[in-house]
Amino acid sequence: MSSFRFQAIKTASDRKPVHVEELDRKSIIFGSNVFGDKAMRQFLTSEAYKAVLAAADGVKIDRKIAEYIALGMKEWALSKGVTHYTHWFQPLTGTTAEKHDAFFETFPDGSDPVEKFGGSQLAQQEPDASSFPNGGIRNTFEARGYTAWDPTSPAFIFGTTLCIPTVFVSYTGEALDNKTPLLRALSAMDVAATDVAKYFDKNVKRVTATLGWEQEYFLVDIALANSRPDLMATGRTLLGHTASKGQQLEDHYFGSIPTRVLTYIRDLENECMLLGIPVKTRHNEVAPNQYELAPIFEESNLAVDHNSLLMDVMQKVAERHFFKVLFHEKPFKGINGSGKHNNWSLATDTGINLLTPGKTPMSNLQFLTFFVNTIKAVHDYEELVRASIASASNDHRLGANEAPPAIISIFIGEQLTRVLAELEGVTKGKLSPEEKTDLKLNVVGKLPDVLLDNTDRNRTSPFAFTGNKFEFRAVGSSANCAVSMTTLNTIVSKQLKDFKKEVDSLIETNDFKKDEAIFNVLREYIKQTKSILFEGDGYSEAWEQEAAKRGLSNHKTTPAALKAKISEKAIAVFGEMGVMNHVEVESRYEIELEDYIKKIQIEGRVLGDIARNHVIPTAIRYQNILIENVKGLKEIFGKDFEQIAKQQILIIKEISGHIEGINTKVEKMIDERKNANALTNTEEMANAYCDEVKPYFDEIRYHADKLELLVDNEIWTLTKYREMLFTK
Ligand code: ADP
Ligand code: MG
Repeated sequence: MSSFRFQAIKTASDRKPVHVEELDRKSIIFGSNVFGDKAMRQFLTSEAYKAVLAAADGVKIDRKIAEYIALGMKEWALSKGVTHYTHWFQPLTGTTAEKHDAFFETFPDGSDPVEKFGGSQLAQQEPDASSFPNGGIRNTFEARGYTAWDPTSPAFIFGTTLCIPTVFVSYTGEALDNKTPLLRALSAMDVAATDVAKYFDKNVKRVTATLGWEQEYFLVDIALANSRPDLMATGRTLLGHTASKGQQLEDHYFGSIPTRVLTYIRDLENECMLLGIPVKTRHNEVAPNQYELAPIFEESNLAVDHNSLLMDVMQKVAERHFFKVLFHEKPFKGINGSGKHNNWSLATDTGINLLTPGKTPMSNLQFLTFFVNTIKAVHDYEELVRASIASASNDHRLGANEAPPAIISIFIGEQLTRVLAELEGVTKGKLSPEEKTDLKLNVVGKLPDVLLDNTDRNRTSPFAFTGNKFEFRAVGSSANCAVSMTTLNTIVSKQLKDFKKEVDSLIETNDFKKDEAIFNVLREYIKQTKSILFEGDGYSEAWEQEAAKRGLSNHKTTPAALKAKISEKAIAVFGEMGVMNHVEVESRYEIELEDYIKKIQIEGRVLGDIARNHVIPTAIRYQNILIENVKGLKEIFGKDFEQIAKQQILIIKEISGHIEGINTKVEKMIDERKNANALTNTEEMANAYCDEVKPYFDEIRYHADKLELLVDNEIWTLTKYREMLFTK
């Protein structure tokens, strides 16, 4: 069996970079596999083209027009060698789903077959989707859900398939996917933010939330990955002693990208260009074999689709290069894990980023309005924000000894902290003309210069303001961005709505001027939300204590964190903003708990198997070798053997100790699993897996990793950390 490991190492070390065909310049090939503006203008009638554009503003497309759009889309796809089409959606598994149908049709009367694709196939499909998670929304007797075209995210071609982005909803109208609530949240944001933006510019008609994600990942040679059953089954290594050399020399971060990897990335970037995913940045990350890829930011719905698509494409392109992409938040113990930084901002249809300070005091007041309201929203809903990024795999970062902490706080930098302090001092009530002038000149008037040198970045902060956007850094690398972005946009839109009400009421009832009213409301917000602002080291013990004093939550595990999702407050805000009704909220809670349970259950099983089937037998083999050796020494040296064989005997005993450790701990873990499985309440079961089963993982691992250090390298079957992380 150890020969499998050595074969894998040999295969991996012998690999050469795969040839990647050079395509035309990026700006030329960009989006050529997307049914975007150019393709639409070429393949659609102008009426159909306008209908698709209008759909982005919520105008319904009528049946006849849908026929024309489908026809144009089919012609375009056929011209590119496409044979199949699929509705492409994001069920609550967190990944993407597709079911391909051929354009090919025959006729009952035997006439010649043709390629067909009509408006009804474009608009709606009914995948046999009864085994997607639904958290009790659909009764099995009517396990029907349908997918419906999302005209705001363009269709694209991958391979020979036309993929049509769709929502996935039940027949009773509840969202069964991640996209539907996101679209609703974005639309709530549009309404609320436009209303507030109008205080500053009457011409604003639309506000879109923008998202620029940064995707971290590991690349491991496929032969090496395949040689590790834990990596294949769970996405992470459950065992393995840390390599003597890890990331301590910091020689990987931003270092030159290894040739084989760079070839992969170039190939991937070509695919992204064709698919209209505007990838821009690539670099090595901190840990060995860890990389990052980031696009230019986009409208959030499109950005989320692009991230989901990218994760799929990354794995497919990796196959051509004999790599396995690891999206898990913590694939290897002892070195950095991966995250997905979600850069978020708000943009108006007049071309303004609402989180960028402007050139005039008024535009700066606009900036401060959106800035402070975002802080207020995160302050008021910090637990919900934490819940939006909870998962079994992200638990290895949040709350473990890894960045960022499980406590949600906001970093805004020194200068903005000072600006808020000044605003806090604004007189309550009406402002004197002198005070207004002073505010305009010295506080909001000064902002732009101040922010230019705001480059200090606190990498330990889960939610940081970085000059013209907030960066939500605690999102998991394997997560679907939709979940956290739905939450963020929901709570900020709710906050903006409340803000507008307060300001309007001051204007109407107290006869305040607009800016006076805004200053007054912002001042109160600044006072109320101080506890969420934190500039210091988020990993420190001191912060945990300080945060507890401030009343901030610190949920270190998924079952604890998820509870906030079904709090009265959460159900109320999702309901009020029209994002999810209580059934949709509760079903997601149920699904996420189940997902947690299954993940830990699988890890427990895999760990038990490997520990018993790989580690113990190998340890015994080595122990037998030692025993033979000791016997031989006894034969040769007689009574002197004890001194000569002393070390071997010690190792023999040590091995027995660790074997016993593994065996008894695996037994106990299995017992706890049985106890957990007997529970009927999902919440209790998740808690049992978290508190009773999972703690054995570290204990079992401890013994197995010790054995790895003792046992002859030649017979150790599991590919080691140094081999997975440093084989180039
Ligand atoms: P880093 O955080 O790694 O230092 P940058 O600050 O350059 O990198 O940008 C990180 C990401 O922020 C990029 O993916 C970029 O597209 C995104 N970004 C920049 N501006 C915005 C914005 N207004 N809205 C959303 N994302 C943005
Ligand atoms: Mg970043």
